[in-house]
Amino acid sequence: MLHKNLIAGEWLVGESEIENRSPSDVTDLIGVFAQASSDQLEATLDQAQQAQREWAAYGMERKQAVLMNIGNELMARSAELGALLSREEGKPLAEGKGEVYRAGQFFTYYAAECLRQIGENADSVRPNIEVDVRREPVGVVAVISPWNFPTATASWKIAPALCYGNAVVWKPANITPASAYALTEIIARQDIPKGLFSLVMGSGSGIGERLVQSPKVNAVTFTGSVPVGKRIAIAAIQNLTKVQMEMGSKNALAVMDDADIDLAVTLALGGAFGGTGQKCTASSRLVVHEAIHDTFVEKLVAGTKAMKVGHALEEGTQMGPVVSAEQLAENLAYVDLGKSEGAELCCGGERLEMPHDGFYMSPGVFLNTLNDFRINREEMFAPLTSVIKVASYDEALSVVNDTNFGLTSGIVTKSLARATHFRRNARTGVVTINLPTAGTDYHVPFGGRGDSSYGSREQGKAAAEFYTTVKTAYISAGPV
Ligand code: NDP
Repeated sequence: MLHKNLIAGEWLVGESEIENRSPSDVTDLIGVFAQASSDQLEATLDQAQQAQREWAAYGMERKQAVLMNIGNELMARSAELGALLSREEGKPLAEGKGEVYRAGQFFTYYAAECLRQIGENADSVRPNIEVDVRREPVGVVAVISPWNFPTATASWKIAPALCYGNAVVWKPANITPASAYALTEIIARQDIPKGLFSLVMGSGSGIGERLVQSPKVNAVTFTGSVPVGKRIAIAAIQNLTKVQMEMGSKNALAVMDDADIDLAVTLALGGAFGGTGQKCTASSRLVVHEAIHDTFVEKLVAGTKAMKVGHALEEGTQMGPVVSAEQLAENLAYVDLGKSEGAELCCGGERLEMPHDGFYMSPGVFLNTLNDFRINREEMFAPLTSVIKVASYDEALSVVNDTNFGLTSGIVTKSLARATHFRRNARTGVVTINLPTAGTDYHVPFGGRGDSSYGSREQGKAAAEFYTTVKTAYISAGPV
């Protein structure tokens, strides 16, 4: 079946088509997906500008109902759409279903936010004048989303964009178009102005680049790699377009000498290998106190070796395949790089031959690594993690902070003093205490520092900063 783009409110074939195949089994053809043309992009942007004005004038309860319907449908269909997501992205079924359910929660959260758009007021410094401060929609928002959370990441951008009265033109990752199509199909059925929401599937370097270069776009929200993020920022600034970017990390989990070691191992395994390590919040550096290093490593390696790698849709699979042949090749190149830098690959990190023709590799652990190795500085986006041995809490904190990135960091400790010091001094946008570095809530801000993020925070009420623009009104009532 050919899956079309949603252009100016119409489902249209594109200038070409691509096939989407499962990374668990490349003989499994999921579907064929239209690739939008430049003319279609222009047409949909024109319509989006008009639709945005209509949508902004909708009553708040009408907007709330739209977002609530989308959220409820996602949650009700999380088993079905989660299976589709797992089939095309490769994460185990439970993670796929969980992601779709979470995506629904973003919509229901922002449905409620539709009713909570309350401004500020003040007296002017001048007599008999009042000041009214409100937020207004920013206009047409371009959403550029990645493949690793194809439904959730898009939803935490689309839901606030719509909530605050904007139109959306969505360019999803071309490697996960089925999840994008499924979400669009739900949104398109709602009570929204024609062309308020567009789906423009196609390559990043083609239609994606043209979208971010368009002067008809008022804001660009992006999640993906640092090089693409920088390219998008340069394109957006030509039109002074507002931009917000989340670009991965090199997150560290510090395991202290007073840690509950079994808990630390569970957190490390989940954080390093959940989603096949393809998470911007993955625990890719394990900074371990020398006093418990050997015990921790023994249990970590046993847990890693015990992980069941398999087809995303098969019962019992704990880690699915890597998303693509290219990503697998990059991962294996990082394994070679780590060894050449002097790291000891103590388990995994190998291509696996499985009954299905997919992109499988075993989860790998590097020991005896130094923080300045490239494997500890570059985002690998692989089921690979490195242990860095440290002699003290102070050294652990300094290693955690010694990175160009700064999305999440975590500490495993029973000491309130250390946990508090870490929470205050870790230079990341998210800090976790006795919890994994991955896995965040939807009602509070999400984002990082350094190369991890640029622009204002996503999620929770913080999203209003990006999806709105502030208007300050001065009102003189005149004489009574
Ligand atoms: P990219 O940064 O290339 O892709 C992210 C999104 O941007 C996709 O929708 C992509 O489209 C689009 N895109 C690519 N180039 C442009 C462009 N010039 N203008 C506009 N949009 C563009 O990431 P990859 O998917 O290639 O993954 C590479 C690496 O990026 C990973 O190994 C990982 O390190 C990092 N990454 C980080 C993520 C995170 O959560 N922070 C998420 C995904 C990747 P298309 O896919 O169709 O080309």
